[in-house]
Amino acid sequence: MSDKNPQLTPADHSRDSAGLRYVYPVVSRRAGGVSVGINLNTNNACNWRCIYCQVPNLQRGSAPPVDLPQLEKELRSFLSELLHGSFMLENVPPEARRLNDVALSGNGEPTSAAEFEQVIELIGRVMDEFSLNGTIKLILITNGSLIHRSAVRNGIKKMASLNGEVWFKLDSATAQGRLRINHTRQTAETALRNLRVATSLCPTWIQTATFALDDQPTPPQERQAYLHFLARCREEVIPLQGILLYGLARPSLQPEAPRLSQPPSAWLEAFASDIRQLGLAVKLST
Ligand code: SF4
Repeated sequence: MSDKNPQLTPADHSRDSAGLRYVYPVVSRRAGGVSVGINLNTNNACNWRCIYCQVPNLQRGSAPPVDLPQLEKELRSFLSELLHGSFMLENVPPEARRLNDVALSGNGEPTSAAEFEQVIELIGRVMDEFSLNGTIKLILITNGSLIHRSAVRNGIKKMASLNGEVWFKLDSATAQGRLRINHTRQTAETALRNLRVATSLCPTWIQTATFALDDQPTPPQERQAYLHFLARCREEVIPLQGILLYGLARPSLQPEAPRLSQPPSAWLEAFASDIRQLGLAVKLST
């Protein structure tokens, strides 16, 4: 594997950087270590189309059938190389030579894979072989839209016993904003319902992308609706871990890319402060 990998940097999230079909390494800026990514959406298909999405040639749809034996083989061999081989030494900067997590974070919505539950079982089994259960996290990066499916709920429930965390996307709490940013007609009420389910099954963070569109940061009414959504979560005592606020770390590969830019840092700090005032933890990653 190593001859295909120049030194990895936080900017390099290429899904084929290890030459494998499902498994790829990422040096994570959020964690200061290596994250083992699992991409189930090898067809670059997602049920949403976020305007900041970095997936190349993104198309609407679901993950294709997952070749479970292939995924298991790749995960086992890659973890072996990472933990016992020379991969870290040859490909990872010294300050990041630690395994931080396994993350289901692919070129589309991972829970759209029909085999999602079996994938979680498989990951748990392989992590166990390397005595990783309880020592590193298993993260699911999801738009949360498919939690009504029993297989998705079962998989997320299994994640809880694997030191799992769900990172649940919420960029807007208005119909207009969700259509503009995520190109979804799923309502904020449905998102709230799905969030209740996610948090009841596994520790869950909300992840929110922040950006300026046509040089304008999020409009005040959008910001208010978002804060109102979080306030409702607090009133209902939904057990959120907190909010992950992201900037545009990597360029969008969608047609809207030229219209997107980083919001002013003062705006971002004020936004984070408003969220903290609701009694929620905020992690900023710009
Ligand atoms: S949900 Fe994720 S993969 Fe899907 S379009 Fe949005 S950013 Fe891209």
